[in-house]
Amino acid sequence: MDTGTLLVAAGVAVLAVVLAVILVRHRGGRLASSPEAAPPALGGAERLRRGLLATRERLLGQIDAVLGRGPRPLEAILADLEEVLIAADVGVPTTAALLEHVRAAAAGSADPAVIRDLLRCEIAALVETAPAPLPSATPWVTLVVGVNGVGKTTTIGKLATHHTQEGRKVLIVAADTFRAAAIEQLTVWAERSGADLVRHAAGADPSAVVYDGIRAAVARGIDVVLVDTAGRLHTRSPLMDELKKIRRVIARELPGAPHETLLVLDATTGQNALNQARTFGEAVEVTGVALTKLDGTARGGILLALRHELGLPVHWIGVGEAPDDLRPFDPAAFVAAVLGSADGR
Ligand code: GDP
Repeated sequence: MDTGTLLVAAGVAVLAVVLAVILVRHRGGRLASSPEAAPPALGGAERLRRGLLATRERLLGQIDAVLGRGPRPLEAILADLEEVLIAADVGVPTTAALLEHVRAAAAGSADPAVIRDLLRCEIAALVETAPAPLPSATPWVTLVVGVNGVGKTTTIGKLATHHTQEGRKVLIVAADTFRAAAIEQLTVWAERSGADLVRHAAGADPSAVVYDGIRAAVARGIDVVLVDTAGRLHTRSPLMDELKKIRRVIARELPGAPHETLLVLDATTGQNALNQARTFGEAVEVTGVALTKLDGTARGGILLALRHELGLPVHWIGVGEAPDDLRPFDPAAFVAAVLGSADGR
């Protein structure tokens, strides 16, 4: 073989290797973005931080800006902080209470570092919540309520994933029979998470689905039952009556159940979420909240208002659409994600 032929052969070999690398990378990229692919492996704290980035930018960013404006009287600082907190949907009553505590504890000091620490401590104390109860009865029944569009179906799917990953046998009860799409969506989530499903045709009596669901759960030795319910707000009064009826059917078939009633709220709706919480609270005894879509909003301050104004424990937060983007609410991790760590970042 002469030198020219050798050079051409080497060139062809190099080209083949480069093409192979490009092909492998390209296919890997397509796999990574397909719905079945595992999400990129991020640690829990990092996922949470990313999910809460918009709220962090609004809260921490603006608080830093206010406190960085040089020496000023305490009242001027507090007035600016009030604006920042209200803009992050903390709400007027909660903001007033937080700043009152800061004013009292500051004891006249207008040192920005002191104010920053005090505000952080007050917010940390406010969001302090006991975690969601662990299933302690068999079957453990969670009734899931909330208006359409808040992420109820998705939250049930994510909860099913969480419990099956913890080794529990899960049954989803598709009792929102008014929306055929919700039944179909739950069918997909059940398959994906390995949960059982009890469903009737669209338009069926929700109480009948619940009755079948509880019976099936007992017969099959299910650990956790997740009951979806309708959320048509425009038919408010019948909706609340229906929820009460569903509760009665569950309690009759399984004394002591439902063991928890989880209200799903959409963080992007801000103060409107508080109104929904009040409405549902009048009809059913809400034991905890799943606050969804925190990743799409800077209005994460609504979580503080839910705690202060309604005393509702937030048990889960949604920070994305992937199955493991529903996270048990960890107060300390939340404060670190939206206000930075105690040492300043
Ligand atoms: P439902 O009508 O209350 O059952 O709402 P769905 O479960 O169908 O959710 C409505 C939309 O919100 C869907 O596109 C979900 O993927 C999306 N969603 C739910 N939870 C979250 C979340 O935590 N983050 C984001 N970004 N989207 C969410």
